[in-house]
Amino acid sequence: QISEAEVALFSVPSYACQRRTTRDNHNSNLTDALSLLAENAELNNEDGRGVAFRRAAALMKALPTQVISMSQLRGLPCLGEHSLRVIKDVLENGVSSEVESTKQSKRYKALKILTGIFGVGAKTADRWIREGIYNLEQLRDSGQTLNRAQKSGLEHYDDLNEPVTKAEADAIGEIVQKAVDSVLTGSQVALTGGFRRGKLTGHDVDFLITHPEEGKEVGLMPKVVAWLESQGFLLYQKTTRNSYLESKDGPARPASNMDRFERCFSIFKLTKGKEQESTQPEEQNDLKTKDVLRPHMQVDTDQQLCELSKNYQMEAASHKIWRAVRVDLVVSPISQFAFAVLGWTGSKLFERELRRWAGHEKNMSLSSHALFDNTQNKYLRATSEEEIFAYLGLEYIPPSERNA
Ligand code: ATP
Ligand code: MN
Ligand code: MN
Repeated sequence: QISEAEVALFSVPSYACQRRTTRDNHNSNLTDALSLLAENAELNNEDGRGVAFRRAAALMKALPTQVISMSQLRGLPCLGEHSLRVIKDVLENGVSSEVESTKQSKRYKALKILTGIFGVGAKTADRWIREGIYNLEQLRDSGQTLNRAQKSGLEHYDDLNEPVTKAEADAIGEIVQKAVDSVLTGSQVALTGGFRRGKLTGHDVDFLITHPEEGKEVGLMPKVVAWLESQGFLLYQKTTRNSYLESKDGPARPASNMDRFERCFSIFKLTKGKEQESTQPEEQNDLKTKDVLRPHMQVDTDQQLCELSKNYQMEAASHKIWRAVRVDLVVSPISQFAFAVLGWTGSKLFERELRRWAGHEKNMSLSSHALFDNTQNKYLRATSEEEIFAYLGLEYIPPSERNA
């Protein structure tokens, strides 16, 4: 029995951007439960509910010790009735009944499998489920029309659902740097996203590209992509152009939180093992059918052929010396670089909270392009993340402590 006095009471500020959230997590049993419910809400397009669970999970993640009793949570922000019920369930029973039943539900499983395909979001997955499609096999059999991204996503499904390691991220970083050097000397590449926050694995690798001379970055993306393509590094790419208009007085106010940089969503072909890039990755991996179907083999029946083809596929998979990795590239002019780095470093919740803080507490609008002070009616220029935190009246939080 632990008395009230012995139980640590926490004092935690309510915005995630006011807190230091490292990769350490003393309450993963609780955050796993809350994150799963957040994910389920997002997969069902219940955004408000998703954010509420994300905020609760982030709050629990920021606590310095393990929570063992509900009384420790008294007075803490971000914990709604529903989240508290889930936490209570986990503390008392080891698991939350709502989480367990969600995990086992046919719909949740199908949403996970289908949105695991690159290019498939919650809306598409929901439509397919309503048509009776719950897994990849049913999707393949259904004859659904897939767009280019989804076709690639399906083709590289296993690779893309395998976490990317830091070593792989670094290897891709070298390739991107080489691409950028080849098309415009002096260009700079910055690793952003989860890897910049010190995460050991990620679902993709994120890079921000700029040039120290304003304006030189214009038109850079198509050249970088063309170089990568010519070297055989890309399995898929979709480039969207910059839609952010610069006027004489400063950048135009963005209409939404979505940023307008020139960007490229891609799938890289990364050579395994020796993670250095090679000049012709294309040629290395062509295990031809003839290598498996040796000349002395006689193929008489369809069944034998089918058997051989299966062997071939297995052998090809075990010989595979490359793998598919999702990579996001963004190009920013140097004048917006600090905002872009801040905006692309994440975590997603940390970003959302920064914008909420700016709007609600400071009467400012923050985006990945700029910070606008609505009171002074002007843009606040910055060349570092530190300056942006200072404008916002926040203590500087380094990337490794933005893992909210
Ligand atoms: P993971 O390891 O899963 O990749 P992550 O934190 O890197 O984690 P991403 O989805 O790659 O997650 O996002 C990285 C950052 O880029 C986040 O800060 C996010 O806010 C930002 N971001 C992602 N997509 C967009 C987008 N369409 N527009 C603006 N910013 C985006
Ligand atoms: Mn990422
Ligand atoms: Mn990304």
